[in-house]
Amino acid sequence: MEGKTCKEFDESCIFCHFAHNRDVETTILKQDEEFVCFRDIDPVAPHHYLVIPRDHIVSCKSLNRSHIDLVERMAKFGKEVLLDQGITDMENVRLGFHQPPFISVGHLHLHVLAPASQISTYMQHKFTPGTDRFITVRLANKFSSYFIFFLYYCNVFFT
Ligand SMILES: [Zn+2]
Ligand SMILES: [Zn+2]
Repeated sequence: MEGKTCKEFDESCIFCHFAHNRDVETTILKQDEEFVCFRDIDPVAPHHYLVIPRDHIVSCKSLNRSHIDLVERMAKFGKEVLLDQGITDMENVRLGFHQPPFISVGHLHLHVLAPASQISTYMQHKFTPGTDRFITVRLANKFSSYFIFFLYYCNVFFT
């Protein structure tokens, strides 16, 4: 994908610096050739991580059908990080994206939260599935229903 919503590196983007290991202050929990994971600086649950692609993709609104596999791999990556952190109850996990304008950094980041039942009450509204703020990624075995949901909310899929 070409254009300003998706490129390899954006000098002005803090997450691009994380993604290319140019920021020494941030602890990277896990990384591979495609993704990087680190702690959310403002956690709302006992485990709150962000998974970002190394490529600069602005938000879930920048995604199209060709990114379905990417999102799936991103969710699996997040789940692996939780396993690494000793989380085994995958039913009590929440994975999702904020939609613009409710994004803090304009570089696609998947929120990985566990246990979902312990998301702090005063922040719940920001992470409630099914709202136009937060799009959830269902876990691997539920991907088909998730994609219908995702397509519905990211209407850019059809433009
Ligand atoms: Zn970026
Ligand atoms: Zn966010």
